[in-house]
Amino acid sequence: MNYKIVIDAGHGGNDKGVVGNGLQEKDLALQASLYMYERFEQLGLPVSLVRDSDETLTDAERIAKIVAPYGDEEDVILISNHMASGGEGFSYHC
Ligand SMILES: [Zn+2]
Repeated sequence: MNYKIVIDAGHGGNDKGVVGNGLQEKDLALQASLYMYERFEQLGLPVSLVRDSDETLTDAERIAKIVAPYGDEEDVILISNHMASGGEGFSYHC
């Protein structure tokens, strides 16, 4: 099966996500997502970003952007990037 990849940078805009140590989850999620997007593109895989800037999205808008490029099919992989705070600093979960 030829998979298609949709990368969702969690949060964004007015929704900062977790904030601490001068970091905001929305920024780290976007950085990770842009990096992943570039790498998948270099590998020649079909890939799309839900957001590529600091953009506020409602849940409905986010879902619409997730399904827009490739639909809601079995061959679509969604990667939603979030960084959770636990104890001191940030940790990464996907
Ligand atoms: Zn999050």
